[in-house]
Amino acid sequence: MNIKDYSGVFVFAQQVDGKLTSVGLELCGKGKQLAGDLGVKLTAVLLGSGVEGLAGDLLSHGADRVILVDDEKLGVYMTEPYVYALSKVIENYKPEILLVGATAIGRDMAPRVSARVHTGLTADCTALDIDGESKNLLMTRPAFGGNIMATILCPNHRPQMATVRPGVMQKLPAGEAVGEIEKFALEIPEKCVNVEILEIIPNRPTRMNIQEAKVLVSGGRGIGGPEGFAPLDALAGKLGGTISSSRACVDSGWTTSDRQVGQTGSTVRPDLYFACGISGQIQHVAGMEESGYIIAINRDETAPIFGVADLGIVGDLHAILPALAAEIDKARAKQ
Ligand code: FAD
Repeated sequence: MNIKDYSGVFVFAQQVDGKLTSVGLELCGKGKQLAGDLGVKLTAVLLGSGVEGLAGDLLSHGADRVILVDDEKLGVYMTEPYVYALSKVIENYKPEILLVGATAIGRDMAPRVSARVHTGLTADCTALDIDGESKNLLMTRPAFGGNIMATILCPNHRPQMATVRPGVMQKLPAGEAVGEIEKFALEIPEKCVNVEILEIIPNRPTRMNIQEAKVLVSGGRGIGGPEGFAPLDALAGKLGGTISSSRACVDSGWTTSDRQVGQTGSTVRPDLYFACGISGQIQHVAGMEESGYIIAINRDETAPIFGVADLGIVGDLHAILPALAAEIDKARAKQ
């Protein structure tokens, strides 16, 4: 492999049911910055069946070009056809960087693609930058249980591949859709379709997705038990938000894992984040520190959560939350 043959920043633009997933657009935002630092173009790779209509959205969110592989075999995600198609795109276009969202699909596909094209992969990156001197990609992610941040390089192989979890990077505001759409003609061999899909059962969350909520009221071990979420839910309801949690509550079975914020949960960026009875360990903070405004309620004034809070309230959450809800009602009644 001559790494000098490889150029350009590529982003895998994941779509499901003909809808782009947000992480693809977030990666376009980051990819645009990396491409700017390298003086190259940003390309989004779109795989699917009948998905050409999505290309405009990618162009308006920073992509200079969309490479489209449109094939019936890519209609519903299956490992082998997708891995084949993305590997062929890499072999043909030779990008120097490829970013993939760390979704269930991305986690299934990216390691296989990296093995097929003989390169490395850094999973779950929280920061990506270009080294000013070598122009290598600096891929930063938590290591050793989240206690240190490691910056990983892939100097001898291309593309430099990284996955990034949803919510970590930011989309660019939608602009004008300028750029080209290039159809990559590819014959996906019949033998790639080695799985028969019998039924698709859609995951229909009954509550608001925590990554989309503008207000999150998050509970930690300090809420005392599953019933401790009731006052949090009440407050969230008043503010048009939803509840989330630390891992301690998920591990104790007080709530479900789709509510978990942090390194091994979701990264969230609401306008307002309440941390109630959460100590503020680094693995939790990593998932919420970019929130617009953070209010922490904890009875221990030395709790690390106060270090990232914009407003800290020292006291018993069981007394503070109902009082806060009552104040909101009073203020609304006056309006
Ligand atoms: P605790 O640390 O036990 O804190 C409870 C807090 O509640 C204390 O500060 C206490 O003062 C306060 N409190 C108690 N009673 C009250 C009351 N009545 N009123 C007010 N305050 C009260 N954690 C995550 O959250 N997300 C992750 O994604 C995550 N990933 C991890 C990944 C790895 C590899 C590892 C090793 C750990 C991970 N953790 C994660 C766990 C993390 O290290 C902490 O153990 C966890 O965040 C602690 O949860 P907590 O703050 O709810 O509980």
